[in-house]
Amino acid sequence: MKFPPQIKEYCGIFGILGHPRAAELTYLGLYSLQHRGQESAGIVSSDGDRTYRHVGLGLVADVFSNPKTFLGLKGSIAIGHNRYSTTGSNSIVNAQPLAINYHGGPLAVAHNGNLVNSLTLRRRLEAEGSIFQSTSDSEVILHLIARSRQKGLINQMQEALRQVEGAYSLVFLAKDRIVAVRDPRGFRPLCLGHKQGAIVVASESCALDLIDADYVRDVEPGEIIEIDATGHRSYFLPAADRVTQCVFEFIYFSRPDSRIFGEYVDKTRRKIGKQLAQEKPASSADIVISVPDSSNTAALGYAHAANLPFELGLIRNHYIGRTFIHPIPAMRDFNVRIKFNTVGGVLRGKRVVVVDDSIVRGTTIKKLTRLIRKAGASEVHLRISSPPVRYPCLFGMDFGTRQELIAAYNEVEQIRDFLDVDSLEYLSIEGLLEAVPKGRCGYCTCCFTGEYPIKVDEAYDKFLHEHGSNILELDFKKTE
Ligand code: SF4
Repeated sequence: MKFPPQIKEYCGIFGILGHPRAAELTYLGLYSLQHRGQESAGIVSSDGDRTYRHVGLGLVADVFSNPKTFLGLKGSIAIGHNRYSTTGSNSIVNAQPLAINYHGGPLAVAHNGNLVNSLTLRRRLEAEGSIFQSTSDSEVILHLIARSRQKGLINQMQEALRQVEGAYSLVFLAKDRIVAVRDPRGFRPLCLGHKQGAIVVASESCALDLIDADYVRDVEPGEIIEIDATGHRSYFLPAADRVTQCVFEFIYFSRPDSRIFGEYVDKTRRKIGKQLAQEKPASSADIVISVPDSSNTAALGYAHAANLPFELGLIRNHYIGRTFIHPIPAMRDFNVRIKFNTVGGVLRGKRVVVVDDSIVRGTTIKKLTRLIRKAGASEVHLRISSPPVRYPCLFGMDFGTRQELIAAYNEVEQIRDFLDVDSLEYLSIEGLLEAVPKGRCGYCTCCFTGEYPIKVDEAYDKFLHEHGSNILELDFKKTE
């Protein structure tokens, strides 16, 4: 049974065309997107005639630890993927980019997101004779493209993608081009950049920074960008009734140094912290600390607005091996201790505001606040820079089942009591939407409100409620 100690992100994607060291730059891009997925990594490249693939389980640096690997990843075109399995088990068959050969030639795909009607589509395709190699929902897209009788890759993609529902930012590689796609609701970020004549796409702009590429713009919701040696061209999928970008990208997922949905994450996260301080001040406090690293910028915003000093009261150990990411239950207590330590000199005798980005099950923050008290804090006031997470994410985020969410069935006061803190306050949904950039695109907030922006496929809905949003659990049960 898997119990994630915190929210897990799910996949970073990268693509580049027109650079002689495409695979190496993809490796660097994936390195900077490591926070979006740590279970597998992979690159597919093309030299115009043939495609080459290397994937493996583990971190990017482990999968590509042998420099000779890059000699085999030939060509000036490459795409890459970091995976965290929100659907499909964590096995090598699900490592992306997935690659096939079909009547149109070789085709590979890297996918960030989660399809909500993939089970229905897969059952239909299997009934019609399709044989699947993986349990990943991304493979459904490849099958739909391969079965299309439309002429040309873009038409085939458009026909395939009109059939899928859910969250998908995609980068495809064919022999002579890459194609970047963002779903019409724009759930996941995807941006376009360039580097000395090469065109680059990446989940977050921090990947462009690392390879010294310039950010150009976001891929628009519903946009398909075909990139080849002659340049790039845009096509569009039918528009959704509204755009619902994942607001959690600003709260937690994306790196603060990235620009997503047209804005810097750092700037937005500070505004969220400021909004939280204005809405939910702590009447008596000496210092503000964050739960590092994802809450650092919101805590800075809070401290600034509250006119309180920001201090480093918790130190995070960044050198924890994979062993501690999937601990056996008995090791979970130890897991928090090994990940965080308190700074006694900062906390002793202080009334402390602790800013965290979200509470999912509440077990990690309970242990942390206990540690903060043990280090001598006289009062602990917990401030959460998002509203209570009451509903599971059906678009790829690993929040687990509704039963696992502490806010699903408990009022704030009950949670405060469970966490044993002096006060607990969450940012309001109105405050959150006030702090994030406004514009013509809206946001998905359904993990807070339960108002899902897509009619969720019945089979998928039933499946999630029975087994949780992590299929790893289901696979485990199946083999029992
Ligand atoms: S449910 Fe929450 S985490 Fe999932 S896409 Fe919507 S806002 Fe993001």
